[in-house]
Amino acid sequence: MASSSLPIHIAIIGGGIGGLSPAIGLQKHPQISFTIYESHSSFSEIGAGLGFTTNAHRAMSPISPALYEKFKSVALFNGTEEKRGFAFRHQVGEEGPDEGKEIIEVQIPPGLEQSSVHRNDFLDVLVGCLPDGGRSCVEFGKRLVEIRDGEDEKLICMFADGTSVDADVVVGCDGLKSVSRLYVFGSESELSRPRFTGKIAYRAIIPMERAIKAIGEKQARNRQMYLGHHGFMITYAMAKGTLLNVIGFRTTESNTWDGEWFRPAKQEEYERDFKGWGKTVKSLISLVEQPDLWAIFDHPPVSTYHKGRLCLLGDAAHTTAPHFGQGAGMALEDAHVLSSLLGRCTSTSELTAASRAFDYARVPRTTRVMAASRGQGNLVCFEDPDAGSDLEKVAELINWDRRMWLWDYDVDGNCKQALEKFEEERGSFR
Ligand SMILES: Cc1cc2nc3c(=O)[nH]c(=O)nc-3n(C[C@H](O)[C@H](O)[C@H](O)COP(=O)(O)OP(=O)(O)OC[C@H]3O[C@@H](n4cnc5c(N)ncnc54)[C@H](O)[C@@H]3O)c2cc1C
Repeated sequence: MASSSLPIHIAIIGGGIGGLSPAIGLQKHPQISFTIYESHSSFSEIGAGLGFTTNAHRAMSPISPALYEKFKSVALFNGTEEKRGFAFRHQVGEEGPDEGKEIIEVQIPPGLEQSSVHRNDFLDVLVGCLPDGGRSCVEFGKRLVEIRDGEDEKLICMFADGTSVDADVVVGCDGLKSVSRLYVFGSESELSRPRFTGKIAYRAIIPMERAIKAIGEKQARNRQMYLGHHGFMITYAMAKGTLLNVIGFRTTESNTWDGEWFRPAKQEEYERDFKGWGKTVKSLISLVEQPDLWAIFDHPPVSTYHKGRLCLLGDAAHTTAPHFGQGAGMALEDAHVLSSLLGRCTSTSELTAASRAFDYARVPRTTRVMAASRGQGNLVCFEDPDAGSDLEKVAELINWDRRMWLWDYDVDGNCKQALEKFEEERGSFR
């Protein structure tokens, strides 16, 4: 029998981009209440810059028009206004006769955009869009350790501090090492665990003034990728052009990773891993004072992101190698779709239909992006089985046309698909 106790209460696990975005979208639905449970004692983003592409921009306004407006006030759309439609200039980054040779400069078709933002600035924007600046809807210091089935199809979230809460729905946004994911696939399943991609990344921020002095204004202010054998470096400006975000990727010799997934690194390690690279790459590394080292993971493809009334979102659902810069963008797409679906629910009996519709719309899109992102990492490390280090072939595969589907994505169309599926599903669940 349909249970109609309202409001529907939602527990959101994790207060990262993936947790805050659906919360922002849910606040417009009066039949819904929610609480965000975050393990840390405050909001915090680790890492430096974030690149967003058109699909991510398109997801923001439907979540909340204020979100996109506030985002625009902190985002940088590129070094110079006339290069707003410019994606990345790809060049050879290694020492040797081809050093500095342009492989391809990718131009974005008119109407589409790419942006960058400091993670902390974006986090402030998200928190500023929460009701009451988050004060009344977030509980800090709540580390989820387990999810259990409760009465009346409710779920019970158990926290490390010994407390627990009941919820009608749980949205698991607890990232790469998601505990929520264990409820969906089981703690023994390989599907619960992310896979090491074999690549590591050194992340750092350099003051723009210093970068300009070292490598010149044009090179520093506009987006660059330096490609080579088994590695690449990506640089882009952020914080309104005052900082340069620098990430150096290397392929390791192992397919397994035993240590922490990120840790502080030493500049000497970074230099050692980029021995044999060209002048520009080395100059940038010499300016890095405190790099962080990240192991790069992704999730195995799965056919569902939910079990009953628990739905995974963002990295908890589909951790993706960052080579197309899509992880946070996909979390925003997810948030638009899931908050719209949950907003349609008028009783708790419709919640499973919403989860099924979410899967229907989001599994194919995110699975495709995950696979393409791995492939892109291989391509720019000259490891693509067809292109290798043949610069013409690499250029052909990098070219814009091949990634049109990724950026020029009909985010609203995807949401509409989900809502149609929901109407169909809720008929059969009533
Ligand atoms: C090197 C690198 C570069 C990247 N660049 C880009 C880019 O340019 N563009 C882009 O779109 N994406 C990028 N990404 C991906 C992006 O960072 C992630 O996809 C995004 O941050 C995921 O957000 P999330 O909220 O799902 O997960 P997370 O950011 O991991 O947030 C999870 C939150 O849950 C909390 N939490 C964890 N466990 C628990 C628990 N048990 N209980 C309660 N709370 C918990 C955490 O403290 C955290 O606040 C990059 C990733 C990497 C590694």
